[in-house]
Amino acid sequence: MGQDNPDSVIVWFRNDLRLADHAALAAAVKANAKIFPVYILEDTVAGGRELGGASKWWLDKSLKSLRSAISQRGGKLICRKGDAEKILRDLIKETGAEAVFWGRRYTQPEIDRDADIKKALKDDGIEAKSFNTTLLTEPWAYKTTSGGYYKVFTPYWRAVRGNYEAPDPLPAPEKFDGIGIDGDEIESWGLHPSKPDWSKGFDEMWTPGEDGARERLQDFLDGPIRDYEEMRNRPDEDGTSGLSPHLRHGEISPATIWRAVMGRINRGLKEEESAWSFLSEIVWREFSYVLIYHNPKMGRENYDSKFNVMEWRSSKKDLERWQKGETGYPIVDAGMRQLWATGWMHNRVRMIVASLLTKHLLLNWTEGEDWFWDTLVDADPASNAAGWQWTAGSGADASPYFRVFNPITQGQKFDQTGAYVRHWCPELKKLPNKHLHAPWEAGRDVLKKAGVELGSTYPKPIIAHKEGRQRALDAWETLKEKQ
Ligand code: FAD
Repeated sequence: MGQDNPDSVIVWFRNDLRLADHAALAAAVKANAKIFPVYILEDTVAGGRELGGASKWWLDKSLKSLRSAISQRGGKLICRKGDAEKILRDLIKETGAEAVFWGRRYTQPEIDRDADIKKALKDDGIEAKSFNTTLLTEPWAYKTTSGGYYKVFTPYWRAVRGNYEAPDPLPAPEKFDGIGIDGDEIESWGLHPSKPDWSKGFDEMWTPGEDGARERLQDFLDGPIRDYEEMRNRPDEDGTSGLSPHLRHGEISPATIWRAVMGRINRGLKEEESAWSFLSEIVWREFSYVLIYHNPKMGRENYDSKFNVMEWRSSKKDLERWQKGETGYPIVDAGMRQLWATGWMHNRVRMIVASLLTKHLLLNWTEGEDWFWDTLVDADPASNAAGWQWTAGSGADASPYFRVFNPITQGQKFDQTGAYVRHWCPELKKLPNKHLHAPWEAGRDVLKKAGVELGSTYPKPIIAHKEGRQRALDAWETLKEKQ
């Protein structure tokens, strides 16, 4: 059959590890083609680097879940490792496929690689088609009145809220092929950590895969969405959806989330504004993709070039104390330990720990971004860079550099019950709320009664808040003078 209606199609899964509402798969279904599902483990991914350890843990389980969903439909997920172009060409020979369909990616190294692959396949007479499988709308969809891209979130959000309508969901294929084609065992890729296996806490918190994503959404819609606006900043409560790693790996489409939330709104959800507030966060993810698409170097370089002459400190010791959750600021240490144990950290706490690193410790945001890249199950090239640059002050629509988060009052305000710090820093468990976020201010008797010995059972602050704040402000003044 001709190119417009291929008899058989390779569907190349990438950041879209699901069957439902998947535009590339649905196009193959529509063409009535035999479908060969393929996953390729490439040496480098988004931003041209290797996946981090926590993402590999997730990928391992997510692929196994996809493999099982495909085999239930009579097919086999063909897994191979290495150079994507070569593997696709080999597979075309082995399967006789006439076309390759995939979902688009938006960081520059991936755009370049995909363009090369598309060209090579087309030169061979193979139909190569890409689709939007991961975003509500692609980064070029909305333009400002002057024709540029949105650099400020609020007007971008207004444009999406006023215009976006989720299309009808796309059907999952009922049948797959792939049987008889060789592939690697996912187990042989060593994605799951060993020596040591640090993932126990991950197992307790997460169910990677399409079913897990659907359940998370359902649980969120059945409860927390009602109080989202109020509770989304409270790490001591289960106030957010926990959907970020599922979205990162594409186990659920953002359009599915949008439709489900709009369904609740249209059925008269009383807490409508709370639901809109949640949707606006989904659009923050989209906005991060707008930024990185239009600023391809933003993953590693300052969006605001003024920061190129910032005199960051260099201190391996301070970086390690931050990474290990030993800064002496309880809310920061709780966050860093939550990250290490579960691969995730609450958004409010991400901002607090990022502020401490870039302001009090005056370390370059890229050092923090690297650590998050390795340890987050939702490590995302766009959202991670945007989140770090926003907090550091070097990003688009960023929090100004001179706004230095106070880790004590942030803890008191957002971990009101103290449950978050008590859970992740159990050595402080017996401290009364009044002193929980600033143990060094407690009297000797209080500390003794709580079994806390500063500098021994729990660290003294890595730098006094006032001193750290002043040093950051001085660095800001110097930066301004250099412009
Ligand atoms: P919810 O509050 O339930 O929000 C729903 C969804 O909206 C999330 O799953 C996520 O996909 C999206 N979202 C929410 N907040 C943001 C945001 N500020 N920016 C972009 N998308 C958002 N998010 C990532 O997905 N990957 C990252 O690598 C990442 N790195 C970050 C680094 C820093 C320094 C900061 C401050 C934020 C970062 N975020 C990142 C954004 C945010 O912290 C997480 O998306 C959020 O905590 C995920 O939890 P949730 O799914 O319960 O969020």
